[in-house]
Amino acid sequence: MRFIYIVHPPYLPARWIKIHKGRVGGLAALTTKKERAEYFRKHGSWRVLKGWLIEQSHGKCWYCEAKIERASFDVDHFRPKLGITVDGTKMPGDSGYYWIAYEWWNFRLSCPRCNRPEKDVDGVTYGKANEFPLLDESKRCIRPGMSISEERPKLLDPCDEKDCKLLAYGIDGETKPASDDGQWDCQRALLTIKQLGFNAYATPESKRSQWRAIDALIRLAGNHPDVISCLQERLSPEHEYSSFFRSAIGTHRDRAWVEALL
Ligand SMILES: [Zn+2]
Repeated sequence: MRFIYIVHPPYLPARWIKIHKGRVGGLAALTTKKERAEYFRKHGSWRVLKGWLIEQSHGKCWYCEAKIERASFDVDHFRPKLGITVDGTKMPGDSGYYWIAYEWWNFRLSCPRCNRPEKDVDGVTYGKANEFPLLDESKRCIRPGMSISEERPKLLDPCDEKDCKLLAYGIDGETKPASDDGQWDCQRALLTIKQLGFNAYATPESKRSQWRAIDALIRLAGNHPDVISCLQERLSPEHEYSSFFRSAIGTHRDRAWVEALL
């Protein structure tokens, strides 16, 4: 997970500004969850911002850094727009964070694997879906006007630089908590890794096999312009799984020329 830095003002497409105004106005006139569900089904206008969201991450999932050339990205609502689950159980009587359903700062570009609920071959369900647990449920915002900043979400947020630092990457290709002390930050990392299936769907194997070739290059070819160029490419924000490559390449930082690249 690489920190998604969005400049302010965010320079949103002019078309979106107009759509946003209309959708927020339409949404404010609705009073029931059923009406809102129908409205969202008809007006999934957040897709208009998909190109803008893709630009922010150089075409990678904001959560797992995967590139998905042959599939479509989803626009995930970090705070679910219509209903919330905690540990897979629906919150009784909740309506989701419907009032921020059209706010760009609640959107996260997501690959289908991170966003949609899906069972793997072992029957384990992954995908963020409507999951949104908090440290303290009593602080949850349940209506417009309440302060979202009081909430402490358990899932890590790619738009929070501190959150991105809570994950570490092993040369075995697995994503792990940066700290294994069992405290809140460690619990958040573990939940995010499990919920979004970072170590599922043969992702670690794919990273590991890519790393083997780079590792051999460093050891056998050493400080050579072509090797340096190859490493720089893996470390750049544009590259798939660049956080993993930064950690993996870092295992060779005893070589001064590698350290200079990090
Ligand atoms: Zn993803």
